[in-house]
Amino acid sequence: MKAHDGIYLDGAWRPALSGEVIDVVDPVDEQVIARVPAAGAEDVDAAVRAARAALPGWAPTAPAERAARLSALRDALAARKDEIAGTVTAELGAPLAFSQAVHAAVPIAVAGSYADLAARHAFEEKVGNSTVFHEPVGVVAAITPWNYPLHQVVAKVAPALAAGCTVVLKPAEDTPLVAQLFAEAVHDAGVPAGVFNLVTGLGPVAGQALAEHPGVDLVSFTGSTAVGRSIAATAGAAVKKVALELGGKSANVILRSADLAKAVNVGVANVMSNSGQTCSAWTRMLVHRDQYDEAVELARTAAAKYGDRIGPLVNAKQQARVRGYIEKGVAEGARLVAGGAEPPRERGYFVSPTVFADVTPEMTIAQEEIFGPVLSVLRYEDEEDALRIANGTVYGLAGAVWAGDEAEAVAFARRMDTGQVDINGGRFNPLAPFGGYKQSGVGRELGAHGLAEYLQTKSLQF
Ligand code: NAD
Repeated sequence: MKAHDGIYLDGAWRPALSGEVIDVVDPVDEQVIARVPAAGAEDVDAAVRAARAALPGWAPTAPAERAARLSALRDALAARKDEIAGTVTAELGAPLAFSQAVHAAVPIAVAGSYADLAARHAFEEKVGNSTVFHEPVGVVAAITPWNYPLHQVVAKVAPALAAGCTVVLKPAEDTPLVAQLFAEAVHDAGVPAGVFNLVTGLGPVAGQALAEHPGVDLVSFTGSTAVGRSIAATAGAAVKKVALELGGKSANVILRSADLAKAVNVGVANVMSNSGQTCSAWTRMLVHRDQYDEAVELARTAAAKYGDRIGPLVNAKQQARVRGYIEKGVAEGARLVAGGAEPPRERGYFVSPTVFADVTPEMTIAQEEIFGPVLSVLRYEDEEDALRIANGTVYGLAGAVWAGDEAEAVAFARRMDTGQVDINGGRFNPLAPFGGYKQSGVGRELGAHGLAEYLQTKSLQF
């Protein structure tokens, strides 16, 4: 595949000083499809300097100008939507239809939403005898994962640019190609040199150098809890702002009055899509004991339909990790009703759609984020028990509630310790704040709440 052999720095592609490279692998056939630079600390430093130098020019631009650039960025991405989908399919392994419908379409919509928000947002307000200005935080370090590779880039870079911040992006090492495509789109959108910079590289090298850099004002990170914790500690010591979007172990709570078949089928689809590599996936299905056997049977049938339709996991490490969790589920006494640890194919990082029954709340597979196509079905006694189970993990990112009566579902959802809840299959809303309670993270992405993360206030009194 086509790839740049440089990093995007101060408006141009330049060779990385490190001289190191990363092999990009197609997870379907395990072949190297491209090579990109593995930037080092000196490259990161150059990128942060470029972003710092561009800040005084970009921060005071009129919101209408920033909106115009973001609108051009949306158009540049939309014009290349097929290329985006093909690139994500090549480096992540997602089936092409899913790449088109989600990996390409969602970030285009999100970029468009920030073009609108930049134009409409009140960057200035009156509070009594004060005028409050909402000013950009400064230089943003955006560190993103591979699971929704373009969405996560756009969900950070678009609001940062809308706010008037400048950015250095370090995308995941598994999916740098769509990040390069994004940099081309930013360039074509006429965003001034230095406002956006891309350094491809390894997490513990380029990622760490970026998170620690004194020239960065805010680190926005999405990924594992372990790395998030260390970034937060480093940023805390430097009194630097952080936004963290970490993992989840979201509950899909099916109340007794719900349409059971619909709730189970949508629930299984939610877990299997993107091969389970979704931080907000409803990986714990909670079913009343009287409906439990029927729900397990429905889930087994639904999972079987996915058979060969889901893609592989992103890499060998993730495949091994997910298989390890499946083995652990069996070892701890859960009952395997679909799939299993044995890979369905010899080549590629595939894992079969897997469903566990008789999962109890304290089991590892009910507590830890697996990040693969693995569903745990848990039994509850009554609503209080369901709530205890739903809230009984360190996470609180998303969730679902199903009930015959919407008000009943809403009443339950209001008691859940989680940042988003879909009621009776409510659709994803790219304007709704997305982010976690508890250890699922700090801060919110998307919509006006996502924009606010990149702004700080200055009050003038009269
Ligand atoms: P990771 O946290 O290691 O990687 C995420 C990003 O952080 C990547 O860009 C990576 O290069 C960078 N990074 C890694 N180490 C770093 C460091 N020391 N300093 C700065 N940046 C660093 O995640 P992973 O290893 O790719 O995946 C492991 C697990 O993380 C998954 O199984 C899943 O549970 C979780 N995860 C969650 C999300 C999410 O959306 N919340 C996304 C990806 C992974």
